[in-house]
Amino acid sequence: MTDRRIRNIVIVGGGTAGWMAAAGLSKALHGLGVQIRLIESATIATMGVGEATIPPIMDFIRQLGIAEDELVREVEATYKLGIGYRDWTRPGHFYFHPFGPTGPGLGSIPFQAYWLKMFLAGEAAPLGDYSIQAMAALRGRFTRPVHAPNTPLNKITYALHFDASRFARYLRGFAEARGVLRMVGDVRHISLCPRTGSVESVTLASGESVAGDLFIDCSGFRGLLIEEALETGYEDWSKWLPCDRALVAHSEPAAVPDPYTLVTARDAGWQWRIPLQHRNGNGYVYSSAFIAEESARATLLANLDGRRLSEPNTLRFTPGRRRKAWSRNVVALGLSAGFLEPLEATGIYLIQRGIAMLLRFFPDRDFATADIERYNRVLESEFSRVRDFLLLHYSQTERTGPFWDHCRAIPLTDSLLERIELFQSHGRILREDAELFPVMSWLSVMIGQNILPRRYDPLVDGLEPQQIRAKLDELRSGIERCVEAMPGHWDYIQTRRAS
Ligand SMILES: Cc1cc2nc3c(=O)[nH]c(=O)nc-3n(C[C@H](O)[C@H](O)[C@H](O)COP(=O)(O)OP(=O)(O)OC[C@H]3O[C@@H](n4cnc5c(N)ncnc54)[C@H](O)[C@@H]3O)c2cc1C
Repeated sequence: MTDRRIRNIVIVGGGTAGWMAAAGLSKALHGLGVQIRLIESATIATMGVGEATIPPIMDFIRQLGIAEDELVREVEATYKLGIGYRDWTRPGHFYFHPFGPTGPGLGSIPFQAYWLKMFLAGEAAPLGDYSIQAMAALRGRFTRPVHAPNTPLNKITYALHFDASRFARYLRGFAEARGVLRMVGDVRHISLCPRTGSVESVTLASGESVAGDLFIDCSGFRGLLIEEALETGYEDWSKWLPCDRALVAHSEPAAVPDPYTLVTARDAGWQWRIPLQHRNGNGYVYSSAFIAEESARATLLANLDGRRLSEPNTLRFTPGRRRKAWSRNVVALGLSAGFLEPLEATGIYLIQRGIAMLLRFFPDRDFATADIERYNRVLESEFSRVRDFLLLHYSQTERTGPFWDHCRAIPLTDSLLERIELFQSHGRILREDAELFPVMSWLSVMIGQNILPRRYDPLVDGLEPQQIRAKLDELRSGIERCVEAMPGHWDYIQTRRAS
Protein backbone atom coordinates (compact mmCIF):
# COMPACT_ATOMS: atom_id res chain seq x y z
CA MET A 1 0.00 0.00 0.00
CA THR A 2 1.42 3.39 -0.89
CA ASP A 3 1.93 5.90 1.89
CA ARG A 4 -0.76 8.54 1.42
CA ARG A 5 -0.20 10.36 4.69
CA ILE A 6 -0.21 14.15 4.85
CA ARG A 7 3.41 15.24 5.29
CA ASN A 8 3.26 18.90 4.60
CA ILE A 9 0.76 21.51 5.80
CA VAL A 10 0.86 25.12 4.66
CA ILE A 11 -1.11 27.74 6.59
CA VAL A 12 -1.62 31.03 4.74
CA GLY A 13 -2.24 33.92 7.14
CA GLY A 14 -0.91 34.89 10.55
CA GLY A 15 -3.95 36.41 12.25
CA THR A 16 -5.88 34.78 15.08
CA ALA A 17 -7.05 31.97 12.79
CA GLY A 18 -3.61 31.22 11.38
CA TRP A 19 -1.86 31.04 14.73
CA MET A 20 -4.70 29.14 16.40
CA ALA A 21 -4.46 26.58 13.59
CA ALA A 22 -0.67 26.44 13.87
CA ALA A 23 -0.86 25.95 17.65
CA GLY A 24 -3.67 23.39 17.53
CA LEU A 25 -2.21 21.33 14.70
CA SER A 26 1.36 21.37 15.99
CA LYS A 27 0.15 20.05 19.33
CA ALA A 28 -2.21 17.41 17.94
CA LEU A 29 0.05 16.15 15.13
CA HIS A 30 3.18 16.02 17.26
CA GLY A 31 5.22 12.90 16.52
CA LEU A 32 3.56 12.19 13.18
CA GLY A 33 6.33 13.69 11.07
CA VAL A 34 4.15 16.42 9.58
CA GLN A 35 5.87 19.64 8.60
CA ILE A 36 3.79 22.77 9.28
CA ARG A 37 4.67 26.11 7.70
CA LEU A 38 2.81 29.38 8.24
CA ILE A 39 3.10 32.21 5.72
CA GLU A 40 2.23 35.71 6.87
CA SER A 41 2.49 39.02 5.12
CA ALA A 42 4.58 41.85 6.52
CA THR A 43 2.44 44.39 4.65
CA ILE A 44 -1.17 43.16 4.90
CA ALA A 45 -2.49 43.87 8.39
CA THR A 46 -4.40 41.38 10.49
CA MET A 47 -7.94 42.26 11.50
CA GLY A 48 -6.81 43.08 15.05
CA VAL A 49 -10.27 42.65 16.54
CA GLY A 50 -11.81 39.52 18.05
CA GLU A 51 -11.18 40.30 21.70
CA ALA A 52 -14.19 38.76 23.42
CA THR A 53 -14.52 35.00 23.68
CA ILE A 54 -17.01 32.43 24.96
CA PRO A 55 -16.39 29.54 27.37
CA PRO A 56 -15.21 26.90 24.85
CA ILE A 57 -12.00 28.94 24.45
CA MET A 58 -10.97 27.65 27.87
CA ASP A 59 -11.05 24.09 26.50
CA PHE A 60 -8.81 25.15 23.63
CA ILE A 61 -6.34 26.67 26.09
CA ARG A 62 -6.41 23.60 28.33
CA GLN A 63 -6.04 21.19 25.41
CA LEU A 64 -2.92 23.04 24.34
CA GLY A 65 -1.63 22.74 27.91
CA ILE A 66 -1.19 26.51 28.24
CA ALA A 67 -0.86 27.85 31.79
CA GLU A 68 -3.89 30.07 32.23
CA ASP A 69 -2.30 32.60 34.60
CA GLU A 70 0.61 33.10 32.24
CA LEU A 71 -1.71 33.59 29.29
CA VAL A 72 -3.91 36.07 31.17
CA ARG A 73 -0.81 38.08 32.02
CA GLU A 74 0.69 37.99 28.53
CA VAL A 75 -2.47 38.93 26.63
CA GLU A 76 -3.68 41.55 29.18
CA ALA A 77 -6.84 39.51 29.64
CA THR A 78 -9.80 40.06 31.89
CA TYR A 79 -12.44 37.48 32.72
CA LYS A 80 -15.83 37.36 31.08
CA LEU A 81 -18.97 35.95 32.70
CA GLY A 82 -21.46 37.01 30.04
CA ILE A 83 -22.81 39.99 28.16
CA GLY A 84 -24.80 42.93 29.47
CA TYR A 85 -27.39 44.27 26.99
CA ARG A 86 -28.12 47.95 27.57
CA ASP A 87 -31.02 49.74 25.83
CA TRP A 88 -31.41 46.72 23.57
CA THR A 89 -34.97 45.67 24.33
CA ARG A 90 -35.99 49.32 24.63
CA PRO A 91 -34.17 52.49 25.75
CA GLY A 92 -33.47 52.44 29.49
CA HIS A 93 -33.72 48.64 29.74
CA PHE A 94 -30.88 46.32 30.78
CA TYR A 95 -30.64 42.57 30.74
CA PHE A 96 -27.79 40.13 31.23
CA HIS A 97 -26.94 37.06 29.21
CA PRO A 98 -24.79 34.96 31.55
CA PHE A 99 -22.61 31.97 30.67
CA GLY A 100 -23.26 28.67 32.36
CA PRO A 101 -26.21 26.41 32.98
CA THR A 102 -29.61 27.14 34.44
CA GLY A 103 -30.35 26.05 37.99
CA PRO A 104 -30.96 22.36 38.70
CA GLY A 105 -34.19 20.57 37.89
CA LEU A 106 -36.71 19.44 40.48
CA GLY A 107 -37.15 15.75 39.83
CA SER A 108 -37.76 15.51 36.10
CA ILE A 109 -38.92 19.13 35.81
CA PRO A 110 -36.21 21.41 34.40
CA PHE A 111 -35.34 24.66 36.12
CA GLN A 112 -36.77 26.87 33.39
CA ALA A 113 -40.18 25.20 33.65
CA TYR A 114 -40.67 25.72 37.39
CA TRP A 115 -38.98 29.13 37.45
CA LEU A 116 -41.20 30.33 34.58
CA LYS A 117 -44.37 29.24 36.37
CA MET A 118 -43.45 31.35 39.38
CA PHE A 119 -42.03 34.20 37.30
CA LEU A 120 -45.21 34.51 35.26
CA ALA A 121 -47.16 34.60 38.52
CA GLY A 122 -44.91 37.39 39.82
CA GLU A 123 -43.51 35.09 42.52
CA ALA A 124 -39.95 34.51 41.35
CA ALA A 125 -36.98 36.86 41.19
CA PRO A 126 -35.46 37.80 37.79
CA LEU A 127 -33.57 35.06 36.02
CA GLY A 128 -30.16 36.55 36.75
CA ASP A 129 -30.67 35.97 40.49
CA TYR A 130 -30.43 32.25 39.80
CA SER A 131 -27.14 32.42 37.89
CA ILE A 132 -23.88 32.79 39.78
CA GLN A 133 -22.29 34.20 36.60
CA ALA A 134 -24.90 36.95 36.29
CA MET A 135 -24.88 37.92 39.94
CA ALA A 136 -21.07 37.90 40.19
CA ALA A 137 -20.66 39.86 36.95
CA LEU A 138 -23.00 42.64 37.98
CA ARG A 139 -21.30 42.95 41.36
CA GLY A 140 -17.82 42.95 39.80
CA ARG A 141 -16.79 39.67 41.42
CA PHE A 142 -14.82 36.78 39.96
CA THR A 143 -13.12 33.56 40.84
CA ARG A 144 -12.26 30.54 38.77
CA PRO A 145 -14.12 27.42 39.95
CA VAL A 146 -13.07 26.36 43.41
CA HIS A 147 -13.55 23.03 45.11
CA ALA A 148 -16.62 23.70 47.22
CA PRO A 149 -18.86 20.64 46.98
CA ASN A 150 -22.58 21.25 46.43
CA THR A 151 -22.17 24.94 45.75
CA PRO A 152 -22.28 26.81 42.43
CA LEU A 153 -18.63 27.84 43.03
CA ASN A 154 -17.71 24.43 41.66
CA LYS A 155 -18.96 25.20 38.22
CA ILE A 156 -18.33 28.84 37.46
CA THR A 157 -18.33 29.14 33.69
CA TYR A 158 -16.20 31.85 32.15
CA ALA A 159 -14.28 33.05 29.12
CA LEU A 160 -11.71 35.79 28.47
CA HIS A 161 -11.43 39.22 26.95
CA PHE A 162 -7.96 39.61 25.50
CA ASP A 163 -5.76 41.71 23.25
CA ALA A 164 -6.09 39.95 19.88
CA SER A 165 -2.60 40.87 18.63
CA ARG A 166 -1.00 39.62 21.82
CA PHE A 167 -3.05 36.43 21.70
CA ALA A 168 -1.81 35.70 18.15
CA ARG A 169 1.76 36.48 19.26
CA TYR A 170 1.47 34.18 22.24
CA LEU A 171 0.21 31.34 20.04
CA ARG A 172 3.00 32.01 17.59
CA GLY A 173 5.54 31.39 20.37
CA PHE A 174 3.70 28.22 21.30
CA ALA A 175 3.59 26.96 17.70
CA GLU A 176 7.19 27.85 16.85
CA ALA A 177 8.36 26.03 19.96
CA ARG A 178 6.64 22.96 18.50
CA GLY A 179 8.37 23.17 15.17
CA VAL A 180 6.06 25.37 13.10
CA LEU A 181 8.14 27.25 10.54
CA ARG A 182 7.11 30.88 10.02
CA MET A 183 7.69 32.41 6.61
CA VAL A 184 7.20 36.10 5.90
CA GLY A 185 6.03 37.12 2.46
CA ASP A 186 3.04 37.98 0.31
CA VAL A 187 1.39 35.17 -1.58
CA ARG A 188 1.19 36.35 -5.20
CA HIS A 189 0.26 33.24 -7.11
CA ILE A 190 -1.52 29.96 -6.43
CA SER A 191 -0.81 26.91 -8.62
CA LEU A 192 -3.54 24.34 -9.10
CA CYS A 193 -3.00 20.75 -10.23
CA PRO A 194 -4.39 20.60 -13.78
CA ARG A 195 -5.70 17.07 -13.16
CA THR A 196 -7.43 17.38 -9.75
CA GLY A 197 -7.92 21.13 -9.39
CA SER A 198 -6.30 21.01 -5.92
CA VAL A 199 -3.77 23.55 -4.75
CA GLU A 200 -0.21 22.39 -5.42
CA SER A 201 1.77 25.38 -4.22
CA VAL A 202 1.71 29.08 -3.48
CA THR A 203 4.33 31.49 -4.79
CA LEU A 204 5.55 34.40 -2.69
CA ALA A 205 6.48 37.86 -3.95
CA SER A 206 10.13 36.82 -3.58
CA GLY A 207 9.53 34.11 -6.19
CA GLU A 208 9.82 31.30 -3.65
CA SER A 209 7.34 28.49 -4.21
CA VAL A 210 5.86 26.69 -1.21
CA ALA A 211 4.28 23.30 -1.95
CA GLY A 212 1.99 21.39 0.39
CA ASP A 213 -0.38 18.43 0.72
CA LEU A 214 -2.96 20.31 2.81
CA PHE A 215 -3.47 24.08 2.78
CA ILE A 216 -5.21 26.02 5.53
CA ASP A 217 -6.59 29.30 4.27
CA CYS A 218 -6.44 31.85 7.09
CA SER A 219 -5.98 34.82 4.78
CA GLY A 220 -8.97 36.78 6.07
CA PHE A 221 -12.04 38.06 4.21
CA ARG A 222 -10.41 37.66 0.77
CA GLY A 223 -10.14 33.92 1.07
CA LEU A 224 -7.03 33.81 -1.08
CA LEU A 225 -7.10 30.06 -1.66
CA ILE A 226 -10.67 29.00 -0.92
CA GLU A 227 -12.24 31.77 -3.01
CA GLU A 228 -9.76 33.49 -5.28
CA ALA A 229 -8.17 30.19 -6.39
CA LEU A 230 -10.92 27.59 -5.88
CA GLU A 231 -13.96 29.84 -6.41
CA THR A 232 -15.94 28.07 -3.72
CA GLY A 233 -18.63 30.75 -3.45
CA TYR A 234 -20.04 32.78 -0.56
CA GLU A 235 -23.54 32.74 0.88
CA ASP A 236 -24.54 36.29 1.68
CA TRP A 237 -26.67 36.30 4.85
CA SER A 238 -27.38 40.01 4.98
CA LYS A 239 -31.08 39.32 4.52
CA TRP A 240 -30.97 38.04 8.11
CA LEU A 241 -28.08 39.95 9.68
CA PRO A 242 -28.41 43.68 9.12
CA CYS A 243 -24.95 45.04 10.00
CA ASP A 244 -22.06 45.33 7.55
CA ARG A 245 -19.59 47.76 9.13
CA ALA A 246 -17.67 48.21 12.34
CA LEU A 247 -15.82 51.26 13.57
CA VAL A 248 -13.23 50.27 16.13
CA ALA A 249 -11.29 52.39 18.65
CA HIS A 250 -9.37 51.83 21.86
CA SER A 251 -9.84 53.90 25.01
CA GLU A 252 -8.32 54.16 28.45
CA PRO A 253 -9.20 51.28 30.74
CA ALA A 254 -11.59 51.61 33.64
CA ALA A 255 -9.99 51.73 37.08
CA VAL A 256 -11.74 48.44 37.78
CA PRO A 257 -12.72 46.48 34.64
CA ASP A 258 -16.05 44.69 34.57
CA PRO A 259 -16.05 40.92 34.15
CA TYR A 260 -18.44 41.13 31.22
CA THR A 261 -18.82 42.64 27.76
CA LEU A 262 -21.16 45.59 27.59
CA VAL A 263 -23.32 45.89 24.50
CA THR A 264 -25.35 49.06 23.98
CA ALA A 265 -27.97 49.42 21.26
CA ARG A 266 -27.56 52.48 19.02
CA ASP A 267 -29.76 54.00 16.33
CA ALA A 268 -28.26 51.96 13.50
CA GLY A 269 -26.67 49.03 15.31
CA TRP A 270 -24.84 48.54 18.58
CA GLN A 271 -21.66 49.39 20.42
CA TRP A 272 -19.34 47.05 22.31
CA ARG A 273 -17.12 47.76 25.25
CA ILE A 274 -14.60 45.04 25.95
CA PRO A 275 -12.58 45.73 29.10
CA LEU A 276 -8.92 44.64 29.01
CA GLN A 277 -6.25 45.20 31.64
CA HIS A 278 -4.45 47.92 29.67
CA ARG A 279 -7.32 49.43 27.62
CA ASN A 280 -10.93 49.14 26.59
CA GLY A 281 -11.80 47.85 23.15
CA ASN A 282 -14.77 49.68 21.63
CA GLY A 283 -16.64 49.28 18.41
CA TYR A 284 -19.81 50.51 16.74
CA VAL A 285 -21.26 47.75 14.57
CA TYR A 286 -23.79 49.26 12.19
CA SER A 287 -25.65 49.00 8.93
CA SER A 288 -24.30 51.30 6.23
CA ALA A 289 -27.84 51.46 4.79
CA PHE A 290 -29.02 53.36 7.88
CA ILE A 291 -26.16 55.61 8.93
CA ALA A 292 -23.25 57.37 7.21
CA GLU A 293 -19.75 56.58 8.39
CA GLU A 294 -19.16 60.11 9.70
CA SER A 295 -22.26 59.94 11.93
CA ALA A 296 -21.32 56.47 13.16
CA ARG A 297 -17.87 57.78 13.99
CA ALA A 298 -19.33 60.72 15.90
CA THR A 299 -21.62 58.35 17.83
CA LEU A 300 -18.74 56.07 18.77
CA LEU A 301 -16.48 58.90 19.87
CA ALA A 302 -19.22 60.54 21.90
CA ASN A 303 -19.79 57.28 23.77
CA LEU A 304 -16.34 56.12 24.85
CA ASP A 305 -15.74 55.54 28.54
CA GLY A 306 -12.31 57.04 29.02
CA ARG A 307 -9.94 58.96 26.77
CA ARG A 308 -9.57 57.71 23.21
CA LEU A 309 -6.26 55.91 22.59
CA SER A 310 -6.52 55.20 18.86
CA GLU A 311 -8.03 56.61 15.68
CA PRO A 312 -11.27 54.83 14.74
CA ASN A 313 -10.70 52.22 12.09
CA THR A 314 -13.49 51.10 9.73
CA LEU A 315 -13.95 47.42 8.93
CA ARG A 316 -16.37 46.26 6.23
CA PHE A 317 -17.92 42.84 6.08
CA THR A 318 -20.68 40.90 4.39
CA PRO A 319 -22.33 38.61 6.92
CA GLY A 320 -22.37 35.07 5.65
CA ARG A 321 -20.30 32.00 5.09
CA ARG A 322 -18.23 30.25 2.48
CA ARG A 323 -20.37 27.64 0.71
CA LYS A 324 -17.79 25.01 1.58
CA ALA A 325 -15.34 25.65 4.36
CA TRP A 326 -13.35 22.68 3.07
CA SER A 327 -12.88 22.34 -0.68
CA ARG A 328 -10.42 19.85 -2.25
CA ASN A 329 -7.19 20.17 -0.23
CA VAL A 330 -8.01 23.58 1.22
CA VAL A 331 -9.65 24.18 4.60
CA ALA A 332 -10.71 27.76 5.33
CA LEU A 333 -10.59 28.94 8.95
CA GLY A 334 -11.52 32.31 10.40
CA LEU A 335 -12.76 35.14 8.25
CA SER A 336 -11.96 33.26 5.03
CA ALA A 337 -14.59 30.67 6.09
CA GLY A 338 -17.18 33.33 6.83
CA PHE A 339 -18.19 35.92 9.36
CA LEU A 340 -21.60 36.63 10.84
CA GLU A 341 -21.00 39.54 13.17
CA PRO A 342 -19.44 40.15 16.58
CA LEU A 343 -22.54 40.23 18.82
CA GLU A 344 -22.20 37.12 21.05
CA ALA A 345 -18.50 36.78 20.14
CA THR A 346 -18.58 33.57 18.13
CA GLY A 347 -15.82 34.20 15.53
CA ILE A 348 -12.98 32.63 17.52
CA TYR A 349 -15.23 29.78 18.60
CA LEU A 350 -15.93 28.94 14.94
CA ILE A 351 -12.17 28.83 14.28
CA GLN A 352 -11.72 26.50 17.24
CA ARG A 353 -14.54 24.29 16.03
CA GLY A 354 -13.03 24.21 12.53
CA ILE A 355 -9.67 23.04 13.94
CA ALA A 356 -11.34 20.39 16.12
CA MET A 357 -13.38 19.08 13.20
CA LEU A 358 -10.35 19.07 10.89
CA LEU A 359 -8.59 16.84 13.41
CA ARG A 360 -11.67 14.66 13.74
CA PHE A 361 -11.81 14.14 9.96
CA PHE A 362 -8.08 14.48 9.34
CA PRO A 363 -7.47 13.46 5.73
CA ASP A 364 -4.77 11.65 3.82
CA ARG A 365 -3.71 12.74 0.37
CA ASP A 366 -6.75 11.07 -1.20
CA PHE A 367 -9.06 13.57 0.54
CA ALA A 368 -12.08 11.29 0.93
CA THR A 369 -15.29 13.00 -0.13
CA ALA A 370 -17.20 11.59 2.87
CA ASP A 371 -14.83 13.29 5.34
CA ILE A 372 -15.01 16.60 3.52
CA GLU A 373 -18.78 16.55 3.21
CA ARG A 374 -19.24 15.69 6.86
CA TYR A 375 -16.90 18.50 7.90
CA ASN A 376 -18.81 20.96 5.75
CA ARG A 377 -22.16 19.87 7.15
CA VAL A 378 -20.97 20.28 10.75
CA LEU A 379 -19.63 23.75 10.05
CA GLU A 380 -22.72 24.75 8.11
CA SER A 381 -24.86 23.73 11.04
CA GLU A 382 -22.66 25.69 13.49
CA PHE A 383 -22.93 28.83 11.39
CA SER A 384 -26.71 28.42 11.00
CA ARG A 385 -27.31 28.05 14.71
CA VAL A 386 -25.23 31.09 15.52
CA ARG A 387 -27.13 33.03 12.82
CA ASP A 388 -30.46 32.07 14.42
CA PHE A 389 -29.32 33.18 17.85
CA LEU A 390 -28.12 36.52 16.46
CA LEU A 391 -31.32 37.00 14.49
CA LEU A 392 -33.31 36.46 17.68
CA HIS A 393 -31.57 39.49 19.19
CA TYR A 394 -32.29 41.76 16.22
CA SER A 395 -35.81 40.72 15.41
CA GLN A 396 -37.34 40.75 18.90
CA THR A 397 -36.98 44.26 20.26
CA GLU A 398 -39.31 47.12 21.01
CA ARG A 399 -36.89 49.78 19.78
CA THR A 400 -38.14 52.11 17.12
CA GLY A 401 -36.45 54.05 14.32
CA PRO A 402 -35.72 53.03 10.72
CA PHE A 403 -32.97 50.52 11.53
CA TRP A 404 -34.84 48.70 14.29
CA ASP A 405 -38.12 48.79 12.36
CA HIS A 406 -36.22 47.12 9.53
CA CYS A 407 -34.83 44.49 11.95
CA ARG A 408 -38.28 43.64 13.26
CA ALA A 409 -39.46 43.04 9.70
CA ILE A 410 -36.67 40.58 8.83
CA PRO A 411 -38.29 37.24 7.91
CA LEU A 412 -37.26 34.65 10.50
CA THR A 413 -35.69 31.35 9.50
CA ASP A 414 -37.97 28.32 10.01
CA SER A 415 -35.60 26.98 12.66
CA LEU A 416 -35.77 30.20 14.70
CA LEU A 417 -39.50 30.48 14.25
CA GLU A 418 -39.90 26.99 15.67
CA ARG A 419 -37.79 27.88 18.71
CA ILE A 420 -39.79 31.02 19.38
CA GLU A 421 -43.13 29.26 18.96
CA LEU A 422 -42.11 26.42 21.26
CA PHE A 423 -41.10 28.96 23.86
CA GLN A 424 -44.24 31.02 23.47
CA SER A 425 -46.53 28.02 23.74
CA HIS A 426 -45.21 26.51 27.01
CA GLY A 427 -41.80 28.01 27.74
CA ARG A 428 -39.92 25.11 26.18
CA ILE A 429 -36.42 25.59 24.88
CA LEU A 430 -35.48 23.56 21.84
CA ARG A 431 -31.89 22.47 21.89
CA GLU A 432 -30.35 20.08 19.38
CA ASP A 433 -27.63 17.60 20.46
CA ALA A 434 -24.26 19.34 20.91
CA GLU A 435 -25.27 22.85 19.96
CA LEU A 436 -23.25 25.78 21.22
CA PHE A 437 -25.68 27.94 23.15
CA PRO A 438 -27.09 26.30 26.29
CA VAL A 439 -30.65 26.60 27.58
CA MET A 440 -29.62 29.52 29.80
CA SER A 441 -28.53 31.53 26.75
CA TRP A 442 -31.80 31.12 24.90
CA LEU A 443 -33.81 31.68 28.06
CA SER A 444 -31.92 34.84 29.03
CA VAL A 445 -32.29 36.44 25.63
CA MET A 446 -35.94 35.46 25.17
CA ILE A 447 -36.92 36.74 28.61
CA GLY A 448 -34.54 39.70 28.35
CA GLN A 449 -36.20 40.71 25.10
CA ASN A 450 -39.63 40.28 26.53
CA ILE A 451 -40.75 37.13 24.75
CA LEU A 452 -43.02 35.52 27.29
CA PRO A 453 -44.71 32.13 27.14
CA ARG A 454 -48.51 32.19 26.97
CA ARG A 455 -48.63 29.28 29.42
CA TYR A 456 -46.17 27.41 31.56
CA ASP A 457 -45.36 23.73 31.12
CA PRO A 458 -48.38 21.77 32.47
CA LEU A 459 -46.11 19.14 34.04
CA VAL A 460 -44.97 21.73 36.61
CA ASP A 461 -48.36 21.42 38.28
CA GLY A 462 -47.18 18.06 39.59
CA LEU A 463 -44.96 20.06 41.98
CA GLU A 464 -46.28 21.77 45.08
CA PRO A 465 -45.89 25.57 44.78
CA GLN A 466 -44.38 25.54 48.24
CA GLN A 467 -41.72 23.10 47.08
CA ILE A 468 -40.85 25.35 44.14
CA ARG A 469 -40.68 28.46 46.31
CA ALA A 470 -38.39 26.71 48.75
CA LYS A 471 -36.11 25.53 45.92
CA LEU A 472 -35.92 28.96 44.34
CA ASP A 473 -35.17 30.59 47.70
CA GLU A 474 -32.48 28.04 48.42
CA LEU A 475 -30.85 28.57 45.00
CA ARG A 476 -30.92 32.31 45.24
CA SER A 477 -29.59 32.57 48.75
CA GLY A 478 -26.90 29.96 47.99
CA ILE A 479 -25.69 32.02 45.03
CA GLU A 480 -25.86 35.21 47.07
CA ARG A 481 -23.64 33.70 49.77
CA CYS A 482 -21.13 32.43 47.21
CA VAL A 483 -20.93 35.76 45.42
CA GLU A 484 -20.37 37.59 48.71
CA ALA A 485 -17.42 35.29 49.36
CA MET A 486 -15.86 35.86 45.92
CA PRO A 487 -13.02 38.35 45.44
CA GLY A 488 -13.43 41.44 43.30
CA HIS A 489 -12.63 40.76 39.63
CA TRP A 490 -9.73 43.22 39.51
CA ASP A 491 -8.33 42.02 42.83
CA TYR A 492 -8.46 38.49 41.52
CA ILE A 493 -6.49 39.42 38.40
CA GLN A 494 -3.90 41.34 40.42
CA THR A 495 -3.44 38.50 42.87
CA ARG A 496 -2.95 35.96 40.09
CA ARG A 497 -0.51 38.30 38.33
CA ALA A 498 1.56 38.47 41.45
CA SER A 499 1.54 34.70 42.05
C1 LIG B 1 -15.58 44.00 13.70
C2 LIG B 1 -15.24 42.63 14.13
C3 LIG B 1 -15.31 42.30 15.48
C4 LIG B 1 -15.03 41.00 15.89
N1 LIG B 1 -15.14 40.67 17.21
C5 LIG B 1 -14.97 39.40 17.59
C6 LIG B 1 -15.11 39.02 18.95
O1 LIG B 1 -15.31 39.84 19.83
N2 LIG B 1 -14.93 37.72 19.26
C7 LIG B 1 -14.66 36.78 18.32
O2 LIG B 1 -14.58 35.60 18.68
N3 LIG B 1 -14.48 37.11 17.04
C8 LIG B 1 -14.64 38.39 16.65
N4 LIG B 1 -14.45 38.73 15.35
C9 LIG B 1 -13.93 37.73 14.43
C10 LIG B 1 -12.42 37.69 14.58
O3 LIG B 1 -11.89 38.95 14.41
C11 LIG B 1 -11.81 36.81 13.59
O4 LIG B 1 -12.41 35.57 13.74
C12 LIG B 1 -10.32 36.68 13.84
O5 LIG B 1 -9.71 37.93 13.94
C13 LIG B 1 -9.68 35.88 12.79
O6 LIG B 1 -9.23 36.65 11.74
P1 LIG B 1 -8.40 35.90 10.64
O7 LIG B 1 -7.17 35.36 11.25
O8 LIG B 1 -9.30 34.97 9.93
O9 LIG B 1 -8.07 37.05 9.59
P2 LIG B 1 -7.08 38.31 9.67
O10 LIG B 1 -6.88 38.83 11.03
O11 LIG B 1 -7.58 39.24 8.62
O12 LIG B 1 -5.68 37.72 9.22
C14 LIG B 1 -5.38 37.46 7.86
C15 LIG B 1 -3.92 37.09 7.72
O13 LIG B 1 -3.68 36.73 6.37
C16 LIG B 1 -2.53 37.41 5.93
N5 LIG B 1 -2.61 37.60 4.47
C17 LIG B 1 -3.62 38.14 3.77
N6 LIG B 1 -3.32 38.13 2.47
C18 LIG B 1 -2.09 37.58 2.37
C19 LIG B 1 -1.21 37.33 1.29
N7 LIG B 1 -1.52 37.65 0.03
N8 LIG B 1 -0.03 36.74 1.55
C20 LIG B 1 0.33 36.41 2.82
N9 LIG B 1 -0.47 36.63 3.87
C21 LIG B 1 -1.65 37.22 3.64
C22 LIG B 1 -2.53 38.73 6.68
O14 LIG B 1 -1.25 39.34 6.71
C23 LIG B 1 -2.96 38.22 8.05
O15 LIG B 1 -1.83 37.69 8.73
C24 LIG B 1 -14.68 40.03 14.94
C25 LIG B 1 -14.56 40.37 13.59
C26 LIG B 1 -14.85 41.66 13.18
C27 LIG B 1 -14.73 42.00 11.72
